[in-house]
Amino acid sequence: METQFLFEIYPVFLGNGGNSEPAHLPWHDTGESAESSPAPLVVGKDDGWVWAKVDEATRHIVKVSGPEKADVGLQSLVVGKKRVLGFLPLCPGTLVNAVPALPFSALTTRDNFLLPGCIAYVTTRIQLFVGRPSQELLGRECIFCQIPVEKGTRVVVCHCGQAVHCETADSHPDVAEEDRLCCFEQVKNCLACSRALTLEPYLLWDPRENR
Ligand SMILES: [Zn+2]
Ligand SMILES: [Zn+2]
Repeated sequence: METQFLFEIYPVFLGNGGNSEPAHLPWHDTGESAESSPAPLVVGKDDGWVWAKVDEATRHIVKVSGPEKADVGLQSLVVGKKRVLGFLPLCPGTLVNAVPALPFSALTTRDNFLLPGCIAYVTTRIQLFVGRPSQELLGRECIFCQIPVEKGTRVVVCHCGQAVHCETADSHPDVAEEDRLCCFEQVKNCLACSRALTLEPYLLWDPRENR
């Protein structure tokens, strides 16, 4: 088990009539809130190649069955030690970060690509691992109490790889409450990388807020 990464792709549709200026976000145009904005296209690590095309009618990027109908192919891949979004342009004129797309690119959070009629922003949803520590975490210090992580404990692992104890009444019913290592309850942000330490899935970057 490890931290889960899901790539999410948020489209922003461009104005009609050959206007190449990006329009306001659709939910601004219509007075809709960000919550009702188009659902992102999601690419998980076990999805293989995801074939997708721009659907002007519903203003979404939708999955299609194969490359022949697709504008783009996307796959979650590990390159080196990093998880990236493999990107295969299948229609002419595709741009990646405002330059013509190469036959293949590796995208990550904050990258964008231009397809016919829409710009799509790439981000990553993170679900932190919680559970028994993996072999490689054993002996490493908890970032909060600095007690080395032992086999029987339960930890939350930050996106940066640091672990923090998270023993609860459920996970350690035989350990007295005052003896449980529940450092996770004490820290809101990772002491190493300062990202939020939360068990709720969260976006590394929200393209709806930061444009
Ligand atoms: Zn600890
Ligand atoms: Zn961290």
